[in-house]
Amino acid sequence: MRVITKIQDMQTEIINLKSQSKSIGFVPTMGFLHEGHLTLLKRAREENDIVVLSIFVNPLQFGPTEDFSTYPRDFDRDQSLAECEGVDYLLYPSVEDMYPHPSSVKVIVQERTNVLCGKSRPGHFDGVATVLTKLFNIVLPTRAYFGKKDAQQVAVVEGLITDFNFPIELIPVDIVREDNGLAKSSRNVNLLPDERRQAVTLYKSLSAAKETIYRGERNPRTITSLISNMIRSETNGEIDYVEIYSYPQLKELETIVGTCIIAIAVKFSKVRLIDNIILEVSQEIGGAK
Ligand code: AMP
Repeated sequence: MRVITKIQDMQTEIINLKSQSKSIGFVPTMGFLHEGHLTLLKRAREENDIVVLSIFVNPLQFGPTEDFSTYPRDFDRDQSLAECEGVDYLLYPSVEDMYPHPSSVKVIVQERTNVLCGKSRPGHFDGVATVLTKLFNIVLPTRAYFGKKDAQQVAVVEGLITDFNFPIELIPVDIVREDNGLAKSSRNVNLLPDERRQAVTLYKSLSAAKETIYRGERNPRTITSLISNMIRSETNGEIDYVEIYSYPQLKELETIVGTCIIAIAVKFSKVRLIDNIILEVSQEIGGAK
C-alpha cells in the first residue's frame, strides 16, 4: 500500500493506472476506521483492480459549532487497518493541499437538502458535494462506495454523479451495526459510557417502528411519535429529528407506502448520532420488508 499526501502524486498514479485500463474502486472517508468502513473496502477490493481509500476530515462540511476539532483521528491505526484490507493507495491530503486558497467555485446541492441533516446542518451537503467533486476528479474512480448509514448523502451523491455526468458507478452499502444494534460510527467513541448504553435505543426505536408498520400502521405521525417517545423515555439525548420520507426522493408522505426511509438524529453531550432504516412498504398489512 502506498500512502499519498500530495494530490498531484495521486493524479500521476491514476493516469498511469487508467492507461493500463485498471478499474478503480474508491472509498472516501474521514478516517478513524471501523467495521462500517472496512465493509466498504472489502466490497471495493472484490470488485476492482485497484482500491483507493481517502482519509480527509473535510472542514467544509462542518458547521461553526460542530465537532471538526474533536472529530476522532488516528492515522497510524487507520493505515494498518487499510493495509489489512488490501488497499492499494491511501490518499491522505492536508487541508492546505485540498484548499490552498479560498475556493472560487463551490458546489451547491439544491434538491433533497431541505430535510433531515441538510436542514439541521446548513451547508453540510454543499461541503460534501464540493469535496467529492474534487476527490472524484483526483481519483477518477470506476466505482465509488458509500454507506447507507448516511442515506441522505447517498441520495445527494446520486444526484451529483447524475447531474455532473461523472462516469462513476455509485455502490450503496448496507449499515454495519454492533451486536446490540448501534450503528458503527467513528463518533461513537465520543459517547460517555452511559450514553453508549442509551444510544442502543436509536436502533431499538427504529426496529419497533418497523414492527408497528409491519402490523399495519401506515400513519407517519404515529410512527414518529412512537420513536420520539422511546428516545425521550430511554435516553438523555436531545432529538434533532425523527422523520419519514420517500426514498431516495426524500419527499413527505401522507401514508407510509412504497420505498421509505425512517431517519433519526439525536444529540448526546458531545456527539450527534444518526441512524435510519429503509423499508419497502406495500398497502396491505404485513407488507413491510
Ligand atoms: P465517514 O468516515 O463517517 O465519512 O464515513 C465514510 C463512509 O463510510 C461513508 O460512506 C459512510 O456512510 C460509511 N459508513 C460509516 N459508518 C458506516 C456503517 N456503520 N455502516 C456502513 N457504512 C458506514
